[in-house]
Amino acid sequence: MFEVQNQPPPLEPYNLFAGDAVLRDAIEREGAGWAKDELTAFGATLGKPETVQLGFDANRFTPQLRTLDRYGHRLDEVDFHPAWHELLGIALNAGLHSSPWADPRPGAHVARAAGTYMLGQIESGVYCPLAMTYGSVPTLRHAPAIAAEWLPRIFSRNYDRSFRPARLKSAALVGMGMTENQGGSDLRTNATRAEPSGDGSFRLHGHKWFMSAPMCDAFLVLAQSPKGLSCFLLPRWTPADERNAIQIIRLKDKLGNRSNASSEVEFLGAFAQLIGEEGRGIPTIIEMGNHTRLDCCIGSSGLIRQAVAQAIHHARHRTAFQKKLIDQPLMTNVLADLAIESEAATVITMRLARAYDEGGDAAQVIRRLVTPAAKFWICKRAPFVTYEAMEVLGGSGYIEESIMPRLYREAPVNSIWEGSGNIMCLDVLRAMERTPSAIDVLRHELGDGKDARLKAFSEQLEKRLRATRERNDESQARMLTRDMVLALQAALLIRHAPPTVADAFCASRLGEGTSAFGLLPRGLDLNAIAGRAAPAN
Ligand SMILES: Cc1cc2nc3c(=O)[nH]c(=O)nc-3n(C[C@H](O)[C@H](O)[C@H](O)COP(=O)(O)OP(=O)(O)OC[C@H]3O[C@@H](n4cnc5c(N)ncnc54)[C@H](O)[C@@H]3O)c2cc1C
Repeated sequence: MFEVQNQPPPLEPYNLFAGDAVLRDAIEREGAGWAKDELTAFGATLGKPETVQLGFDANRFTPQLRTLDRYGHRLDEVDFHPAWHELLGIALNAGLHSSPWADPRPGAHVARAAGTYMLGQIESGVYCPLAMTYGSVPTLRHAPAIAAEWLPRIFSRNYDRSFRPARLKSAALVGMGMTENQGGSDLRTNATRAEPSGDGSFRLHGHKWFMSAPMCDAFLVLAQSPKGLSCFLLPRWTPADERNAIQIIRLKDKLGNRSNASSEVEFLGAFAQLIGEEGRGIPTIIEMGNHTRLDCCIGSSGLIRQAVAQAIHHARHRTAFQKKLIDQPLMTNVLADLAIESEAATVITMRLARAYDEGGDAAQVIRRLVTPAAKFWICKRAPFVTYEAMEVLGGSGYIEESIMPRLYREAPVNSIWEGSGNIMCLDVLRAMERTPSAIDVLRHELGDGKDARLKAFSEQLEKRLRATRERNDESQARMLTRDMVLALQAALLIRHAPPTVADAFCASRLGEGTSAFGLLPRGLDLNAIAGRAAPAN
């Protein structure tokens, strides 16, 4: 047997919070410093070898659909590997599905964002039901009686995996069904019908082409009722304790996100309750969408962080041509470039999460405008970062035993889900049109213009944003949205990151735009930038 040499030790055990300077600074700054101890403990739990292994197992042993029992009775149940359940238990115990609603306080959304950012680095599939449950709360509150019944279960930190009527359970998770076979972006095409039953409830007939995490206890869905497209709560069990008439047709065979089940379902007169005003389904469910879009930013920032942490860890231990990889000048450039991308994604995500903690007009504008913009750009960057970080590991990065292929396969989903890239950019245009104070709020966020590069970039951006209001040019919406996010990221880094990081970001992102990583110009302190992003125990 050959001698194993020049291989890095696994990046475990390590603390995902204590070893992440950018995240630690961000939670202090954005109002969640009080959560530091809890996050440190959570970071240690996630970084244990046994927790890391759960992520691998949950993806290797993927969910299985059982449509019928052995006698032919409908079951419509999905079996998950024990690792999935264990990870969900860890996440619910940390309150990642509902803590800002169950225990509201300044910084609560930021603290939760930090927790989910770390969880997604170890396993992203379980993030899906957590994000949907978190997002469901403001929408459920449109129906006070239903909220009074369901919220105590949603606020529970138990994980109750049993499949039975929610009233018998100690906790509940909520999913979402909007996308139909004929259209997902254009929700007005939803064809599922909701017929009044005469007792205030409705019966749903139709299908959903995507309904993830089908073992959730209930789903928020859209359906056409007599007054138009409306939002409904669709539980897995009826009030008579019978399985609701929801048939799971099949599970999607997905590129990534494989630990999680995403189903196609048919409704055959399924019991459902109206949420919010009849005929106003899209505005009602879109409140959920805003929160799940925030979660796409958190999830993709977390993926980026994990990819960069793994790459830097590898490069610090692997030697080629008589030097550690991290000390080879061209590799230092690549790693520093990846590190600033990661830091920029994290700081804007945590700033955005703070807007979900705050009241007032400015916070509302940030939520409305920056949520789709940041979702577009961060999620678009994730596949590039995960791919480049994979290459840092050389051939081993392409092998399933490293986490890199899983990160790479996961990376595109947040861009598609909950409003694909173009839809996000069109939403930014709509928000600009409808929010008179948007430019003032943005100008305030971009700061006092002490950095000449940002000042010039922001002035150009403002001109283009004003022009957009007069001439709504959809064809340019991606460029405008990208530049808005770059300006916000630059402003945050100038204000809060070490000057060398801010300098590198402005030098490389506010000009021509980047086409690949490792193109940082001369004269920057690349070692310091890469060192700052190194994970630590
Ligand atoms: C893993 C996974 C899990 C999912 N889970 C769920 C779930 O739980 N619940 C749920 O409801 N949905 C779910 N979805 C579905 C997802 O939200 C939709 O796929 C997404 O919203 C896009 O809808 P679509 O697939 O119908 O694409 P389409 O609407 O057909 O869009 C196709 C492309 O056209 C673009 N496009 C559309 N309109 C325009 C326009 N006017 N201008 C320019 N470009 C445009 C879009 O950006 C997109 O790139 C899931 C998807 C995936 C991949």
